[in-house]
Amino acid sequence: MSTTPAAGTEAPQVSGHQLAYDVFINEPPPQDGVLPNGEPKRFSPMASTLIYGSRDAVLTDAPMTVDQARALGDWVAAKDRNLTDIFVTHGHGDHWFAAGLLAERFGARVVATDGTIAQMHGAVASRPLLWDKVYDGIPPSPVTAVAVPDNGFTLEGHDLVIVEVGHTDSDDTSVLHVPDLDLVVAGDAIYNGVHMYLGQSVTVGGFGTWRAAIDKVEALEPRHIVAGHQNHPLDDDAARQIAETRQYLDDAEELLRTETTAVAFFNAKIKRYPHHLGRYVLWAGTRGLYDVREHPDGDVAQILLRSWL
Ligand SMILES: [Zn+2]
Repeated sequence: MSTTPAAGTEAPQVSGHQLAYDVFINEPPPQDGVLPNGEPKRFSPMASTLIYGSRDAVLTDAPMTVDQARALGDWVAAKDRNLTDIFVTHGHGDHWFAAGLLAERFGARVVATDGTIAQMHGAVASRPLLWDKVYDGIPPSPVTAVAVPDNGFTLEGHDLVIVEVGHTDSDDTSVLHVPDLDLVVAGDAIYNGVHMYLGQSVTVGGFGTWRAAIDKVEALEPRHIVAGHQNHPLDDDAARQIAETRQYLDDAEELLRTETTAVAFFNAKIKRYPHHLGRYVLWAGTRGLYDVREHPDGDVAQILLRSWL
């Protein structure tokens, strides 16, 4: 668990009580199998952010399994706030498959953009082909999310602004901007000390859309960013994370030119990022990139699904 202190003392007083935020990081669920270097496959830690006032709270991103939802839910319950909304940044199942459990436990609404809601339906369709083959204990995941008018809602009178940033590690992703906290909760647009999922870049011809999304986050001028996947000891400094996310893409582009096989790319990334977590995500993305390259006439969606298995 991380207890990133809220930026309450730095946030401008707007009206009534100030907001604060705190982050809970779920450990990745257990799984079978090994990576090319022989180490066990391990997903990334998953971060959920609670933004709260004196009475109410909003949670951004839910985890995937029943056990993770229980751990996060107990942490939320201990905050003793009324959870009004659960915002989902994008459609990947590791950010919302357990949202329904938490929504039920707290009587909260699930919120996402129309684009993300469409992606959530796609994630449900791919569940039996991917997620349920890899992990036990994923609860039923009906899509109950609703869009909100003008992509905005409020928490005790403070604006929470949903900003659509397009394709990052998947299509139709978004971030939550909390101006009164100088905070962006970034989902998978920004990563923090964790390997980025690069596989789906093949569907948009590279990392250009992701770079544009990073620019959009930067234009919000946050001081703090909570990345959807992060390594516990790292801080939430926005400038550092933006620079490091760009650098990771720069390195990937370079290694895609110089490394001729997936294993060589994987090993080169680990050498450059020895402390990054989530090497299973690195491997799945790398396999996808190289399998698509080696099978230009193949079914890209099938190749990307297989890369996780
Ligand atoms: Zn993710």
